[in-house]
Amino acid sequence: MRVWSVPLRTRFRGITVREGALVRGEAGWGEWSPFLEYDDEVAEPWLRCALEAAAGDWPAAVRDTVPVNVTVPAVGAERAHRIVSAGGCRTAKVKVAEPGQTLADDQARLEAVRDALGPSGRIRVDANGGWSVSDAVAALRVLEVASGGLEYAEQPSASVEELAEVRRRVDVPIAADESIRRAADPYRVRDLEAADVAVLKVQPLGGVRACLRIAEDIGLPVVVSSALETSVGIAAGLALAGALPELPFACGLATVQLLTDDVVDAPLLPVDGELPVRVPSIDLAALERLAAPPDRVAHWQARLAAVRGLGAVR
Ligand SMILES: [Mg+2]
Repeated sequence: MRVWSVPLRTRFRGITVREGALVRGEAGWGEWSPFLEYDDEVAEPWLRCALEAAAGDWPAAVRDTVPVNVTVPAVGAERAHRIVSAGGCRTAKVKVAEPGQTLADDQARLEAVRDALGPSGRIRVDANGGWSVSDAVAALRVLEVASGGLEYAEQPSASVEELAEVRRRVDVPIAADESIRRAADPYRVRDLEAADVAVLKVQPLGGVRACLRIAEDIGLPVVVSSALETSVGIAAGLALAGALPELPFACGLATVQLLTDDVVDAPLLPVDGELPVRVPSIDLAALERLAAPPDRVAHWQARLAAVRGLGAVR
């Protein structure tokens, strides 16, 4: 196991440095990077994902490339326009419902994004659970107009019950993201008819094959998204996106650029809005450069022993 630490370009999810481990197996490397605050039970499926990758146990791909979205943070209209124009993606995911901002801010940002994308581009919004049900219903009516049409709204409210209620009250399709964190969650989203789209992340859900099974079981279109991984972890997301029988939406896998550095020699950065379905090669010099200090390595070794001690993985 090698432990790495990479600064982020900007603060994200409350952190400024991403830390994780690479584990080596018979076929290569897998990424194990559960966020630091996660307990051992939560970190366990993340390890299964890493071991699946290291064993080379991925299903065959049915496509060579995967369309990805550009992400627009809660920035002003001008900056939003620049981000979308520079991105080269045909789909934009726009952050809305940011604390301290108003609906007028979201409206202006969406108008700018539509202007930058043109009429054929697709726009989705992500509220990260920030609206009440009534706020979501009111906001989505306004933003549907401002954006010239929304592909879907991701996690408008926090709970699965609220998602279901918003979904009954608006015409915009609803995607579940934060509501899907553990393997049982997608089934609950399906049973409560809470979403039209499921956002799946390979590490929290236990790997590529586990996610393929979930996708088949729930019968909802899937958007594969990252957990802010290095290119090694992104490759696992691409393996899932590459193997899904249907992929009607762009995926949220273009996140390597949020990191200041990477552990591979050719990072998985999008070209013309697409990422290739491939396994990148580890750059050993980068692993040295990004090696975490000894106390952090000790922390990850203890964490690995604790997760293994749960008995679900060898
Ligand atoms: Mg989201």
